[in-house]
Amino acid sequence: MNIADIEMEKYDVIIVGAGPAGLNCAKQLGGTQLRVLVAERNDVVGPKVCAGGLTGKSIESLNLPDGLIEFHFNKIHLHHKDKLFYLKDDGDFTYTIDRKELGQWQLKQLEKFPNIEVRTACAVSKITKEYIVLNGHKIGYKHLVGADGASSLVRRYLKLPSGKAEIAMQYIIPETKYKDLEVYFDSQLFSAWYAWIFPHNNYVSVGCMGNPKVISAKQLTNNFSAWLKTHNIDISHGKYEAFPINGDFKAYQFPGNIYLAGDAGGFASRLTGEGIYQALVSGTEIGKMILDKNYHSKKIDELIRLQNRHNKILGTLVGAGKFRPLLVEVGKYFLRAKSISKKVIRTIA
Ligand SMILES: Cc1cc2nc3c(=O)[nH]c(=O)nc-3n(C[C@H](O)[C@H](O)[C@H](O)COP(=O)(O)OP(=O)(O)OC[C@H]3O[C@@H](n4cnc5c(N)ncnc54)[C@H](O)[C@@H]3O)c2cc1C
Repeated sequence: MNIADIEMEKYDVIIVGAGPAGLNCAKQLGGTQLRVLVAERNDVVGPKVCAGGLTGKSIESLNLPDGLIEFHFNKIHLHHKDKLFYLKDDGDFTYTIDRKELGQWQLKQLEKFPNIEVRTACAVSKITKEYIVLNGHKIGYKHLVGADGASSLVRRYLKLPSGKAEIAMQYIIPETKYKDLEVYFDSQLFSAWYAWIFPHNNYVSVGCMGNPKVISAKQLTNNFSAWLKTHNIDISHGKYEAFPINGDFKAYQFPGNIYLAGDAGGFASRLTGEGIYQALVSGTEIGKMILDKNYHSKKIDELIRLQNRHNKILGTLVGAGKFRPLLVEVGKYFLRAKSISKKVIRTIA
């Protein structure tokens, strides 16, 4: 053993990434005997390429204070072939929040726990089975949680491919005239996926998603530009951002006490692009597993079942090819029935 090893700093748990998954995992470990380090490469916790759309189930699992929610919606405006229809319920079922505000709020929840340390501006650059390298220093771990998002280094260390990752792009535009949550289906431009308009207090997220194996990233970018023009959306003051969304789930627990949560674990929906809820739940549940090695997470089983349902719908939509618009029209017809609307809302929100 050399001197560097003797002096190596050590933690019981190292969580890589302070997104919703990493912060919820840390919260679960708060107030225990474990020494926990959360390493975040960004200077500030929270900001992330994201449209900030939340569903009712996320709001319940977070117990968010009302002030953090920007918009509440009891209907989604759905557009297909220049026609408008709705997915609606009696009460609110979708919301928007600002990702920086969410991250800062989650971070604040950790302040009361002396056993949790969050270090920002700290990128993990290397992983071995005993330690990680953080800003050039080796730090030992007993448990390692990869909560480092869709391009996860921990996932790559585990040699898990993310072959099915979707790509999503958006403009963040400082414009407050948009008040509705809008979704646009256009089979030719976005295949089985969609474009969105998600209003926030001081800006709007206008974006789209797709799978590069179905539409290349370049083609999707061109299609998005064409769609923005057709819909007269002024992007001259907008900020363009793009990032993968990982819904390619393989496993979440690995030899050597290594876990993957959130997008690193491929928990996001490949159909809707929703990943915040899945990150929150998987982060918490992995925290519980670290505390009790016999804990079996029924909530993660449920996430996987939900992802499988979404994958089946997506498979049908992609497979429908030129008949896809017909499927959307059939869906539109059935959505008129309140019971079907409620069922769809339960599946997506
Ligand atoms: C354009 C777009 C729009 C989206 N819109 C929505 C939406 O409306 N609703 C929704 O639910 N989901 C949406 N998503 C998906 C959502 O953003 C993710 O599913 C969610 O953020 C996953 O949370 P996470 O905690 O797993 O990872 P992340 O939020 O990605 O957090 C990972 C953290 O790890 C850090 N990190 C990465 N590598 C390292 C490293 N080597 N060392 C240290 N730190 C590291 C990152 O800086 C980051 O802070 C969208 C995604 C995109 C791209």
